[in-house]
Amino acid sequence: MTWCAICLRKERGFGFSPRMTGTRNLQDAHFCSMRCLNLYTALFRKGGGMIDMTDFERAAIYSCLKPLGECVAEIGVDKPLSSYSKEQVLTLIEVIVTAWQDAMRKGSPEIPF
Ligand SMILES: [Zn+2]
Repeated sequence: MTWCAICLRKERGFGFSPRMTGTRNLQDAHFCSMRCLNLYTALFRKGGGMIDMTDFERAAIYSCLKPLGECVAEIGVDKPLSSYSKEQVLTLIEVIVTAWQDAMRKGSPEIPF
């Protein structure tokens, strides 16, 4: 199974080949949507790629802190992570991934659509 290079959902037939631009040291990338493909190509054109985080990507990660804190507060701040149930861990992961995807899909002046 192949995953979207932006949001890590299952790819759905959208792709980008750096070889088409003369770049030979990067692999083809796959995407779930035109929105994620456009974001990736904007990052690629700016030379940002996905290796070194841009300010936008760092801000997207930062935006996960509040939902993460709210989820942990709901579970119980005194409860150690090692005592979380499987469902609580999965909920925490879903909250963080959803917050990150939402932030990435908003785009930024750094990455114009
Ligand atoms: Zn995607």
